Amino acid sequence: MQRIILHIDMNSYFASVEQQANPFLRGKPIGITGKDQIRSVVATASIEAKKLGVKTAMSTWEAKKICPSLILWPGDPEKYSDIMHRFNAIYREFTPHIEPFSVDESFLDITEEAEDYFGATYIAQMIRSRLKEELGDHITASIGIAPNKLMAKLACETVKPSGLTVVQSDDVIDLLNRCNLTDLCGIGPRIHARLNTLGIKTFQELRAFPLEDLQREFKSYGLWLHEASHGRDLSQGVTSDIQDIKSYGHSYTLPQNTTDPVILKRYLFGLADKVGWRMRRDGVVARRVTAHVRFGNFTNHSEQRTFNEPTADGKNLFEVAWSILRPHLKSDVRLVGLSASLLCQNPSQPSLFKKERNMQSVLCALDTLQHRYGSGVWKRASTLPIEFKPRSSGFHFDHEV
Ligand SMILES: [Mg+2]
Repeated sequence: MQRIILHIDMNSYFASVEQQANPFLRGKPIGITGKDQIRSVVATASIEAKKLGVKTAMSTWEAKKICPSLILWPGDPEKYSDIMHRFNAIYREFTPHIEPFSVDESFLDITEEAEDYFGATYIAQMIRSRLKEELGDHITASIGIAPNKLMAKLACETVKPSGLTVVQSDDVIDLLNRCNLTDLCGIGPRIHARLNTLGIKTFQELRAFPLEDLQREFKSYGLWLHEASHGRDLSQGVTSDIQDIKSYGHSYTLPQNTTDPVILKRYLFGLADKVGWRMRRDGVVARRVTAHVRFGNFTNHSEQRTFNEPTADGKNLFEVAWSILRPHLKSDVRLVGLSASLLCQNPSQPSLFKKERNMQSVLCALDTLQHRYGSGVWKRASTLPIEFKPRSSGFHFDHEV
């Protein structure tokens, strides 16, 4: 059966997320960098920066030389990962057949949902408007629709930024003929150079080249190249990423060992809010919380408790985790953490109790803000004095147990 595949690619992803979060950056050339801006490269250039000649992977000093008005902005991987979960959740409203390809690209198989290319275009437009509604005006996507992943991705490349295109089976040869060999995902500089040595510079020439000779030169990849030149994709279809997450957890190694309950409470509360947010974002609630502490001498203690009512509210998670840990905080603490498990889908029913209902609507409003501006857009007053610094060890966000 002929498939209908969507390839959705966010435009200048990291830069757009920052522009969405910070109005000061909108309409300006910005380059997202690593922490050390002087020795870093541009991970993503905004659309405005690209127009002025800044390219991805360019060193920051070179980018500044080309575009002196370029604003270098340190990247925030946690924010990008949050938004990635958010847009993949939007795609799941339309089909369960989703394969994330990179942090800002996904393939969707919408054959059953769309029925034909007219339906596919409609779904693509609906996805666009849901993205705008949930993520804001500044995070935009390009969408390619085609009979397989390879052609959908190539089609998407041709309409960047912010385009939408449909390439049906009869049109794939036309599409290939309009493209350069290196536009195709799978033909990198080394394969390209070897093809050039064989006198192959276009898809027409690749198509005309005998398969046996291609296989002699490229072994099994020769068949892939031959098929690709005809717009056929030898890879398997969209492999759904149904994740079977068992728990959501965060732990943090404190800047200094301490026994001060005020400091420990702040960190634990901050971590509980992170866990609660990720659960609400994924539409689940938990019936169990496990609290974890590591002492200065590297001994550990962890204990769990089960809720009567499942929850995804950071405050509930914190209160139980704190009641577990409190009696054990007699010597210096090095690390605190908690995880939520026994997950089930959030029934989204309003609580019977007024106080709970009010809290649910506050959380709902705060989540809308986080969806739009990224996690970290709000903090509880009690956790204001602390900051979670991402570290290569000791800090695990999106840590799944
Ligand atoms: Mg992109």
